[in-house]
Amino acid sequence: MPRIKVRTPIVEIDGDEMARVMWVMIKDRLVLPFLDIPLEYYDLGIRRRDETDDRVTVDAANAIRRHGVGVKCATITPDEERVAEYGLKCAWPSPNGTIRSILDGTVFRKPILAGNIKPAVRSWKKPIIIGRHAYGDIYQGVEMEVDLPGRVELVYTDRTGRQERLPVHDFEDRGVVMAIHNLEKSIRSFARSCINYALGERVDLWFSMKDTISKKYHAYFRDIFGQEAARRKADFEAAGIAYRYLLVDDAAAQMMKHEGNVLWAVSNYDGDIFSDMIAAGFGSLGMMTSVLVSPDGKYEFEAAHGTVRRHYYDYLDGSPTSTNSVASIFAWTGAIKKRGELDGTEEVIAFGEKVERAVIACIESGIATKDLIPLMAPRPEGFCSTEGFIDAVASRLGAQRA
Ligand code: NAP
Ligand code: MG
Repeated sequence: MPRIKVRTPIVEIDGDEMARVMWVMIKDRLVLPFLDIPLEYYDLGIRRRDETDDRVTVDAANAIRRHGVGVKCATITPDEERVAEYGLKCAWPSPNGTIRSILDGTVFRKPILAGNIKPAVRSWKKPIIIGRHAYGDIYQGVEMEVDLPGRVELVYTDRTGRQERLPVHDFEDRGVVMAIHNLEKSIRSFARSCINYALGERVDLWFSMKDTISKKYHAYFRDIFGQEAARRKADFEAAGIAYRYLLVDDAAAQMMKHEGNVLWAVSNYDGDIFSDMIAAGFGSLGMMTSVLVSPDGKYEFEAAHGTVRRHYYDYLDGSPTSTNSVASIFAWTGAIKKRGELDGTEEVIAFGEKVERAVIACIESGIATKDLIPLMAPRPEGFCSTEGFIDAVASRLGAQRA
């Protein structure tokens, strides 16, 4: 059978450790035998980043800007320990941070569901996707401890020297203060990325803040989001989806009774908390995908987990591993389906969907890696190796093809 032709390139970004070991298996056994696909390859393995003084990361991000679709393997964000382990010139910055700032994008995390893995929350039947704003608030805050009585003020000095000041508090005793900020441009890009994602996936978009209490800061977010959603009103109607603004506590409560299929857009801090809570509620890190979407509609797909370092050391020792490749496989299928959508090639989209069905069918027939076994009902007798699971998916795909 001839391979399906993919018209335009996907940017392939390789990574580190166990994630890299799985990467080549997925590519060689689940993708290349079936697709004739132009891949523009960037090796973001830590050694290559070090050799190129991290230039390769910038090149990879620019390639996604050019081609519109990328797929990325998990990469090491080096700390001092990694600098020593790999003999690096320095602790290079997080590649995800670099790519995100070049694309000005927002990260959406979406769980992969299988019928025999029940979420911790009974009503959750479909994915709940979190869109977390990734700029400002406490993450770029300034803080001060107050030790003696005195006044703290907020002072703004414009370029002409004119000042505006607001009292924060008259301290009679010890205490603490913090100032945070955000930027219209960043909030607007965030809103646009969320809207692109919701329209693309045809899911309702919820945005939540606490504007009843924070009548300027949080209301500023609410208004910008509202304006951007209003601009795309016709697109929302055509896609049959809705935009809702809710108070964050109300949204959190409603989410516990919701069946899913919704994008919940939240502030930086809320996203920090809720993304981990939702991920844990749906099951394993090995089943969480992530996509970076830019305000002008460029996409980078990846697994939400890291390089799975502990498993990699087992692998290097020659011990058997059972690392879950599902999120990495779905990173590939996400990129393939998006490429097909942007190129208008139905057969490419259909292939991506077919791989996803093969993965879910394996899990639902009790074929899975070790991390999933305790979550599964009925509980399978044994588990697959890293390679064994990918081979099981490959043989199911081969059988479907015949
Ligand atoms: P990790 O790779 O997310 O793994 C942490 C633990 O979670 C694993 O030891 C394993 O638990 C479990 N786990 C995660 N993914 C799994 C999978 N696919 N299958 C089975 N179990 C899985 O985090 P880490 O090992 O602490 O971090 C390693 C490196 O990843 C770090 O250098 C960090 O910088 C990098 N990182 C990269 C990204 C990214 O590129 N997007 C994201 C996060 C972290 P058990 O050990 O209990 O089996
Ligand atoms: Mg967190």
